[in-house]
Amino acid sequence: MLVFALLGLFVGSFLNVCIDRLPRGQSIIHPRSHCAACNRELGTLDLLPIFSYLWLRGRCRYCRAPIPLRLPIVEGVTGLLFALLYWKFGLGLELGISLVYTSLLTVIFAIDLENQLVLDKVIYPGMALALAFSFFWPGLEGIGALPGEALGKVVSSLAGGALGLAAMALPFIIYRRGMGMGDVKLGALVGLMSGYPLVAIALLLGVITGGLVAAILLAFKIKKRSDPIPFAPFLATSAMVTLLWGQAIWQWYL
Ligand SMILES: [Zn+2]
Repeated sequence: MLVFALLGLFVGSFLNVCIDRLPRGQSIIHPRSHCAACNRELGTLDLLPIFSYLWLRGRCRYCRAPIPLRLPIVEGVTGLLFALLYWKFGLGLELGISLVYTSLLTVIFAIDLENQLVLDKVIYPGMALALAFSFFWPGLEGIGALPGEALGKVVSSLAGGALGLAAMALPFIIYRRGMGMGDVKLGALVGLMSGYPLVAIALLLGVITGGLVAAILLAFKIKKRSDPIPFAPFLATSAMVTLLWGQAIWQWYL
């Protein structure tokens, strides 16, 4: 478990690079990480997740500019999630798939929160992966005549994706406003991964928590009615809950 927590810290550090650079169209591999303020290349010691943040008291070693709090948060959360997924799934294919999916959701969450953007170059590869994963994903139940068979899983995944897409597109079609196209695509991605019927849990949880938080932000005048409130963080979170406890919630509902 500790090994996966540590792995998560380092993966989280890489996810931070993706979150910084993908919206700007920069390469995520080259060059090495720089301080955003003084542009000094960061050494290996500066890049140790969380520990370097604590050791440097949240400031750049060279120019003392504050390091964004998002860096240690993403590292810490990824570490926690990786440990949680190992505890839930144990070693195996299921763990590997869920680690990749979780990393994708984390990047989508943070980029939308900071930029009000859901990037095609994250979503499309994510959809392709989700569909490929569906052949192996035991979390998907086969539909109808093909219970548990690989084909049944793929049908379940496709049905989930179609439902996710339709549900997110509905407000847009009826009211000509509402969710952005990015949220519609994310609905499809989460649906492909959750499959039918668990996609319903992911969608419902996302809409309920998103609506609740939006209502609170408006009530306390933290946000105005005209302010955009990103929806992807809610959908990503509910997708995570569905990954971990969707089966249990579905059984309870039945
Ligand atoms: Zn600096």
